[in-house]
Formats: sequence, C-alpha cells, structure tokens
Amino acid sequence: MDLSVVVPLYNEEESLPELCGWINKVVDANGLSTEIILVDDGSTDNSWSVIGQLSAQHGNIKGIKFQRNYGKSAALNEGFKAATGNVVITMDADLQDSPDEIPELYGMIAVDGFDMVSGWKKKRYDNTFTKNIPSKFFNRVTRQMSKIKLHDFNCGLKSYNKKVVKSIEIYGEMHRYIPVLAKWAGFRKIGEKVVEHRPRKYGVTKFGWERFINGFLDLASIMFVGRFGKKPMHFFGLWGTVFFLVGLVVSIYLIVSKFIDPEFALTNRPAFFLALTLVLLGSQFFLAGFIGELISRSATDRNNYLIEKKLGL
Ligand code: UDP
Ligand code: MG
Repeated sequence: MDLSVVVPLYNEEESLPELCGWINKVVDANGLSTEIILVDDGSTDNSWSVIGQLSAQHGNIKGIKFQRNYGKSAALNEGFKAATGNVVITMDADLQDSPDEIPELYGMIAVDGFDMVSGWKKKRYDNTFTKNIPSKFFNRVTRQMSKIKLHDFNCGLKSYNKKVVKSIEIYGEMHRYIPVLAKWAGFRKIGEKVVEHRPRKYGVTKFGWERFINGFLDLASIMFVGRFGKKPMHFFGLWGTVFFLVGLVVSIYLIVSKFIDPEFALTNRPAFFLALTLVLLGSQFFLAGFIGELISRSATDRNNYLIEKKLGL
C-alpha cells in the first residue's frame, strides 16, 4: 500500500461522498494504491451509514466509528493505528482541504525524504476575528516555544512517513501539536507546503474560540512533558532548592537580627512572611518532584526508545 488517507469526521454526512470521490480520482490518476480510513468520531447524523454506502461503492474505503464523540485527536490516533500505507496523509472531512494537494504531499515524503510535511493555509477562508487573528498569535507562540519553523501548526492537511505515525501518540487535544510531538520523538525533517484552503461547503465548524485557551494550556503541558516528563525532579528540584535556600537565608537573617536586638519585631515585617512562604513553597516543590519521579518510574513507556538503526544485532 502506497498511501493511507486518514479523515477524522464528526457530523459531516453531506461532505463525505464528494470528498471520497475526489480523493479517489486524484490517487487513481497518479497510480497510488490507496486506502481511505474514515474515522467517525461519534457522529449523531447519518455519517456512518454514508460511510457504509461509500465503502460498498469504492472498495478502498474503511471505517471506524467511536461510541461517542472523543475529539479529533482520538480520531486521528485511531486512524494512525489502522493505517497500513507507507505514507499517511490526514485531511479534514469538510472539503476545506483540497485532495488535489495529495500527489505533492506524497512526493515530499516518498521522494524528498521528509519525515512529515505540514500544510500551510496561507490564504484562509475562516472567520477573521474568531479564527484567523488568534491563529496567527497561537502559531507565533508555538513557533517560538518549540523552535519548529512552521507557519500553521494546526492545519488538518499533513503527510507523514509511516514510522512517524506509528511512534507518536495523540491524546487529549494534542492534534494541534503533532509537529512538536514528532520533533520530541526525534523526527527532524519537518517540512511545510502552502496548500489551498477553501470555505466550508456543508455543515458547521466544530471548534470555537475556546480552542485557543485550551490550545495554550496544552502547549504548556507539552513543552513541560517533552523537557521534564522523564526527569521531573530536574524541574521541581531546581526551583524547590532555589526557593528553599532563599527562604533559609532570609530566616537566618531574621533569627540573627533577633539575637542581636531583642527589641527586633520578628513577625511584623514582610521579610518574615517572605521567608515562611519560600521555605514552604520550596518543600512543596520537592514533594511534587518526588511524586513526579515515582509516577514516571512506574510509567509503562519509561524506556520506550525509538531505535533508528542497528548493526550486528
Ligand atoms: N472533528 C472530529 N471530532 C471533533 C471535532 C471535529 O473528528 O470532535 C473533525 C471535523 O469533522 C473535521 C475536522 O475534525 O473533519 C476539522 O474540524 P472543523 O472543520 O470543524 O475545524 P475548523 O476547520 O473549523 O478549524
Ligand atoms: Mg474545517
């Protein structure tokens, strides 16, 4: 199998026939043996029966349906597990991504050797205030924090080498940060391609403005987990020590002052409260660090290395 096209969808019954017909037209014209994996994320419309009809009609269409709506990340994760193609392309179901981009995205992986290529909706057809402006800001922060030079992290249209999708796990709402997850997993050839974006033809958007707040919380977690997930004490221990030591120095100053001058009003000055807070905070950080170490020690993936090559074994 050359290619797996993974499509997460939630209530997109009107778009599916057109989408599948178009994908198949493009891959047939390019001679790519292809499977289309439609992951129905608990739709409440007729999407699943449409998938059944399409599968009978096309032969290369496979479907997975969730019991309820788990979110786009879960749908992608499940599609990635099922994919068998050497190259995997993801696209949204709502026809905002154009299947005409498939051949080039495929070639960038199969011929040019990229690990993953992310689409860039340079000209975007979404609401300016709720989407386009927040998205620019979001992308800039993600770019600076992750040091990955992409303009559009959250574009649904992306292509991957099979080994990338088989080695990353997308959970929660981490579909916005797949390039970051891929980079943490050691895949460094991450490319970008300007892609055509189109207005939504049928149905409505499934994400509102809250996505940006959740997005930033997820970014904070992902950066933390990536850097300190396997060694939490290096984060908590460092700050715990700093807080505790500063608190200790202030405490010593207070105690010495009291000894020198019995009239010294100990509890009635800011330094006292500062010392108290810092010592407590420092100890709390240490405790958090120890608990973090216990958790990461018993995590099943604590030694989940990705081996790239072996010699003589
Ligand atoms: N989607 C999904 N599960 C969800 C929300 C969305 O599978 O809980 C799918 C949706 O059907 C579409 C894609 O994810 O195929 C992108 O969603 P949408 O078009 O609503 O996002 P937007 O283009 O507005 O950012
Ligand atoms: Mg859309």
